[in-house]
Amino acid sequence: MKKMDHLLAVLQDRGLGRQEFLQWAGRGIAAGVVGSLAASCRSGQSSTRSQSSIYTTSDGTKVVSSPWETPPAKVPEKPGEPIQLEEWKAKTERETETPAPLPDDQRVGYAIVGLGHLSLDELLPAFGQCKKSKVVALVSGSPEKMQKVAKQYGVKTESCYSYQNYDQLKENKEVQAIYIVLPNSMHAEYTIRGAQAGKHILCEKPMANSAADCQAMIDACKKADRKLMIAYRIQYEPNNRMIREMVQSKKYGAVKFIEAVNAQNSANPQHWRHVKALAGGGALPDIGLYCLNTVRYLLAEEPTEVFAYQYSTPGDARFRDVEEMVSWQMKFPSGVYASCSTHYGVHESRRYRVHAERGWMELAPAFPYKGIQMQTSYAEGEIERTEQPKLPETNQFATEMDHFSECIMQNKQPFTPGEEGLQDQHIMEAIYQSAREGKPVKLPEIKKKDAFRGPLPKEA
Ligand code: NAD
Repeated sequence: MKKMDHLLAVLQDRGLGRQEFLQWAGRGIAAGVVGSLAASCRSGQSSTRSQSSIYTTSDGTKVVSSPWETPPAKVPEKPGEPIQLEEWKAKTERETETPAPLPDDQRVGYAIVGLGHLSLDELLPAFGQCKKSKVVALVSGSPEKMQKVAKQYGVKTESCYSYQNYDQLKENKEVQAIYIVLPNSMHAEYTIRGAQAGKHILCEKPMANSAADCQAMIDACKKADRKLMIAYRIQYEPNNRMIREMVQSKKYGAVKFIEAVNAQNSANPQHWRHVKALAGGGALPDIGLYCLNTVRYLLAEEPTEVFAYQYSTPGDARFRDVEEMVSWQMKFPSGVYASCSTHYGVHESRRYRVHAERGWMELAPAFPYKGIQMQTSYAEGEIERTEQPKLPETNQFATEMDHFSECIMQNKQPFTPGEEGLQDQHIMEAIYQSAREGKPVKLPEIKKKDAFRGPLPKEA
């Protein structure tokens, strides 16, 4: 009797009373539907894979749908492999990949150090799209802010630390990695203390304010046998990766020249980004670094010479201590020249174009968190073909964190280890020297390709 009541409840839920149903459908169909629902109830399933269902159209007509059959999904046992659902789109259409996040207890636990713009606006939300990483601890100088953030992201109160008791992270077994998201001058200290606490370190760019600090960070992580990665998100981003592949395969012939710009208007002269002791410099280490690092990434080569100009508008309070603009040329062993500019006093512009023998490849914008756009143009006989390839958008921060987590889980060298950050710092020091002295500065010739990087990740 109870089963019958349940069946009626199901029918009512579908908008059909008992009498109405029997009159409308006839006993034969009703018996079939009731029979199949009864079978579903008996087996304790909330839905069956082969049964009719009834629904009401917008004009009130009751419709019995034909029996449906969904083949069972293929569920791989391996945690990192996605569930394979029934195919329904033709091969010609773009597919969405079913994510395959690892179970929570198998992910790498992160402590986020510094709860400013990048952490709150980008990194913490990005954990929601991570497959191998989770946030388990916070470090901040503001207990009130930290408590709120801890509640927002489900971090335990006992896993919230101040800068003073930061070293106690050592005792927290849930934390395997520390992500340093502090003003640039603090990266070295918190990396070194974090490694000494036995944790792997993911550190924001620029790595530090001097090559000496970068080296000390590398040494501390080596000594503690911990991994160190610099968060160069662009090196894990699919559009930039595609351009790199086109450059490396000489798709449009040999690359000869690259132009790159990263510029934005800054405000607030009081902000740490305008204080040299905290930021290390102005536009160059903050945003110009994207031009430098991305050109090196695309070419997989290291510059042998730089020549730079630097300028700050006199009387502008923002640029009392740090530079407003740097413009520099880089010469590479293969004969490629790059012309890069960065500015803190013009409206946002972030783009580059790679010029090759038979065409060019451009990202405009090239460096934002979202909305990167590619355009390519090449000559095919008399035809000039211009294309705007569109790749599926990924969360750059989730991809980057998951790469680091994979390196920890599989004991691999990160693609952008500390040595990659140190090399950028050497080049930035040469750029400032050239601007000061008004002449080119030579850099040691490095023959090996991707000399400072780990193995290329399988996917961007
Ligand atoms: P922010 O100023 O918004 O945050 C910095 C945090 O550090 C704040 O919570 C601040 O309270 C804290 N802090 C601790 N000690 C401080 C001190 N002595 N002075 C000032 N602040 C102090 O900065 P942000 O934009 O989040 O940048 C943080 C780091 O992340 C920088 O190294 C920056 O270069 C890098 N970053 C990287 C990207 C990227 O796309 N990869 C984007 C933005 C910033």
